[in-house]
Amino acid sequence: MNLKKLYLILPALIQWSKIDPVSAGALRQHDFLAALQTAPEPEIKLGPQGWTARVVDSLGFGRRNRRADPYKSLTQYKDDLVLRFTISNEAEARAIAGAANQLFLDVWSASNKSMDIRLSPHDLPLVLSFLPESMKNNYTPMMSNILDPIPQSRIEGQKTDTLFFGDYQPWNVILPWMKLLESMFPSYVELLTIGQTHEGRDIHALKVGASEEEDGKRRRADGEKRRTVIITGAAHAREWISVSTVNYLAYSIITGYAKNDKGIDAMVNNIDWIFIPTVNVDGYVYTWEKDRLWRKNRQPTNLAFCQGIDLDRAYDFHFDNSPQSAANPCSEMFPGNYAFQATESKAFVQWAETYTKNNSAKIIGLLDLHSYSQQILYPYSYSCDHPPPDLENLEELGIGLAKAIQVQSGERYEVAAACEGTGFASFPSTTGSGSMLDYFYAKLKVAWTYQIKLRDTGSYGFLLPKENIIPTGEEMLNLVKYFAQFVLDDGGPTFARARKNSPGSDEL
Ligand SMILES: [Zn+2]
Repeated sequence: MNLKKLYLILPALIQWSKIDPVSAGALRQHDFLAALQTAPEPEIKLGPQGWTARVVDSLGFGRRNRRADPYKSLTQYKDDLVLRFTISNEAEARAIAGAANQLFLDVWSASNKSMDIRLSPHDLPLVLSFLPESMKNNYTPMMSNILDPIPQSRIEGQKTDTLFFGDYQPWNVILPWMKLLESMFPSYVELLTIGQTHEGRDIHALKVGASEEEDGKRRRADGEKRRTVIITGAAHAREWISVSTVNYLAYSIITGYAKNDKGIDAMVNNIDWIFIPTVNVDGYVYTWEKDRLWRKNRQPTNLAFCQGIDLDRAYDFHFDNSPQSAANPCSEMFPGNYAFQATESKAFVQWAETYTKNNSAKIIGLLDLHSYSQQILYPYSYSCDHPPPDLENLEELGIGLAKAIQVQSGERYEVAAACEGTGFASFPSTTGSGSMLDYFYAKLKVAWTYQIKLRDTGSYGFLLPKENIIPTGEEMLNLVKYFAQFVLDDGGPTFARARKNSPGSDEL
């Protein structure tokens, strides 16, 4: 989406600013939605002194046209390939993991069957020299040229259902959009600040939940804690589809509740939903301004030319403090020199702990969205040797979630323990240690914890065309509805007994 499109919703914005948001009714909300969804794209002239420019700036929509074109940054990768190497045994897994580590290769995706690696054709012979004979012809190009997907992802003139979700959005559009939703639906939407990034940006979230005082629909028993589910995206900055999906879910649930959608009604009345488009705001901004394929945060390491910590390796549960890992700040999976060195991971956990204490809340679910490979992964990530105490429950819900997606769109998502699904169990020199998934499950006792890798299965990888935003959002919305139904039903006495030894059972 270009900045011009933001102007389409300006009339609606100005309209709201004149209306008391609390007393404004559903009609106004629908005016906004209609404007957002159906407005044509007019030719707008941007006069530097014009009133539209001033209003836009005052609303925080950023500086005009200062934004860099994120696709331009891809030209630095223009000769690169993404190759999928097939893995058939442990020796092969060890060999390719060794090559990835020693050559600092950019691993796009890994499973126990294959590994996708971005590399320059010039480096291919060197990579192959690390591999056994059996692997040397056993790879296929996923993308012959990284720039290939771009023309397709930038096809203009296609009608999309919703303007905002017709394209990926930069942070300086997402944030005012979040503020807007809060001001439109103040009785059940609140903009939260989770903490600050290394570069000092606020990490924001939308909290969606109807309090009993306001809606009068639900009374909590004394001492009952408010059930809370966190849905978060882009711990890895380049996984843009996870950001748009978190936003799509927030938007659908917020507007569904406004329209008295029956299924969503129960979700919002009984659960507080925390939508965090990304904790890695610095990294996400960097993918828009400098390098579309940036993965880590933007924190300096002890090597000046290798910045960034992997926010999904930085947590204090089986943190990898091996000398090998500490010696590799240039690795895309560098976890930091000690647990929680990464500012954003630390801020997120501190917030979660304080939030549950101060708000009499109990986090019962975490859906950590990533891309790509279409997988629903449950704990543990660090090892397959010690299955979680309630493996069967996690598996059961995981399979249900995958079905909810398939019913919606026909897409297949694999369900597996994270240690298996990411292949870490197969790659002796790599590790799934220190993950957000494991930490929330094991340390914060969040019963229903999943990492979900969204579309696709490798045709476009991180450069998934924007036409997938709405279909991915829709299939995930169905998943979240199923998830809510499941965890709400789970409050029943029979199931609570069955979960006796599980991390979340004390609350259920
Ligand atoms: Zn990721």
